[in-house]
Amino acid sequence: MKRFLSSLLSSLLGSALLLLALSIPATGDERLPNPAVDMIHYRFHLTLEDHTDQIRGRAEITVRFLQDSVVAFDLDLVDRGPEENTGMEVTTVSRDGTELGFLHGDDRLEISLASPSEAQEWRTYTVNYQGVPRDGLIIATNRFGDRTFFGDNWPERARHWLPTVDHVSDKASVEWVVTAPEAYEVVGTGRLLERSDLGDGTELTHWICRVPVATKVMVIGVARFAMRNLGRVGQVPVQAWVYPQSREEGFHDFELAEKAVRFFTGHIGPFPYAKLANVQSKTRYGGMENASNVFYSEGAVRGDRENEGLIVHEIAHQWFGDSVTELDWTHLWLSEGFATYFTHLYNEFTYGRGRLVRGMTRDRDVVLRFHSRRPELALVPHQLTDPNEMLNRNVYQKGGWLLHMLRRQVGDEAFWDGIRTYYRRYRDRNADTEDLRRVMEQASGQELEWFFQQWAHEPGHPVLTGGWSFDPSTGMLTVNVRQTQGSGTLFRFPLDIGVTAHGQDRAVPRVETVEVSRKDQTFSFPVEGEPEEVNLDPHTWLLFQGELTRVSGKGR
Ligand SMILES: [Zn+2]
Repeated sequence: MKRFLSSLLSSLLGSALLLLALSIPATGDERLPNPAVDMIHYRFHLTLEDHTDQIRGRAEITVRFLQDSVVAFDLDLVDRGPEENTGMEVTTVSRDGTELGFLHGDDRLEISLASPSEAQEWRTYTVNYQGVPRDGLIIATNRFGDRTFFGDNWPERARHWLPTVDHVSDKASVEWVVTAPEAYEVVGTGRLLERSDLGDGTELTHWICRVPVATKVMVIGVARFAMRNLGRVGQVPVQAWVYPQSREEGFHDFELAEKAVRFFTGHIGPFPYAKLANVQSKTRYGGMENASNVFYSEGAVRGDRENEGLIVHEIAHQWFGDSVTELDWTHLWLSEGFATYFTHLYNEFTYGRGRLVRGMTRDRDVVLRFHSRRPELALVPHQLTDPNEMLNRNVYQKGGWLLHMLRRQVGDEAFWDGIRTYYRRYRDRNADTEDLRRVMEQASGQELEWFFQQWAHEPGHPVLTGGWSFDPSTGMLTVNVRQTQGSGTLFRFPLDIGVTAHGQDRAVPRVETVEVSRKDQTFSFPVEGEPEEVNLDPHTWLLFQGELTRVSGKGR
């Protein structure tokens, strides 16, 4: 469920239009992926067994209709083809005990309604299904040879095992009611409601997440686990769930998680979910920021705490990506760029500014290299449609750099104000780059359209060439800076020029800040004596390429 207010407004607007033109139906929220329905709640009953990889599912799905007179709607669910062993097979679809017609093909489940909908009406449908998941729920032995089941839905792989509107912008609350052999523990989204021995060698585990989350981050993990409560931040338990054989290493590594949750809670706002489990898993990613249970690749648990950056990154995602979710995949940087930069911020506050600078310098090299391979791609890659292709260096490192430069542009106080407001306003909802811009404009009192246009929507970055000269007769330093990037975009940015006098410490140059916005600009300012060195961006605030050279030896 998302954007309740805006959908209410748009439906009021729709009603007004209806009076004017009776033939036009009231429109729903144009930001939802399915024009007919908004998913409100999923309750997934799942039965997992040892003798087969077939799962049995009963999904109770509550939807809100966005329009009058809907007679059918679609869910995403991968079907089992005639020659295939994998995929899901739907046995019945019903509502209030009445069976309904359905069509299942091309990985879509179309449900026919017994009676047409009314706009804003809520209904609950039950889908019974079974099959061997081809993907999405990874059923495999772990590194210790034990059988495990791990959901791994990013970006749109929930449809392999769960009937959903499998799109990042249609969030819903979710319940997991899992029956599995008693040897396993089940970790799921949200809060543990029940764990019961069913007396037949199986156990029922029930988790509930009352706040809406996207399908990409709603999962369960089922395995033999050692579980430890690492601590609490406010009311939020922080836990480690690791394979029993990794018990010591895993508990040691994941102790770091509490500090990260505390840092982000203090700087951004309350943790969005009922708990945070850090789970050793079979995810295909290094780490996967599932809501309220981060799944880490099994190899990431080593007991040496070398995975601190990974842990902090995935925990930052709980706020950005999971709670405030990108409206569509082209705004993926709102997940990955935030998790990247907030890891740098954690490092800055924990270990000092040097760590931030080293991280940003490394990231800048990554962005420049990526740009030379894909010069046509902006941070918001409007020409791409596949989220796997969008998961590139830009969304991580350039996204992080945008936030770093934004912080410089608006100042620390407005930056943190804006971040907290952005979280408060879009918590449990979706946002796009323009939403962030508007929040930051309010927080800073600055108009920032130019900033987001050049850094988010235009490809590339400033490529600077230039030179400096010193005139001993006047004591003036003259610096010429030219933007030579091929893209044609001229960037606008504050540029720090570092001046180191002879015999002065290079680490603490005198800094002059100038405003660059044109192709070719020359700046002059007085300095005390002939400089030994003149540098661009000595404090690492600008994403750019290039350097200054000394152009004349006047006075030598
Ligand atoms: Zn990430």
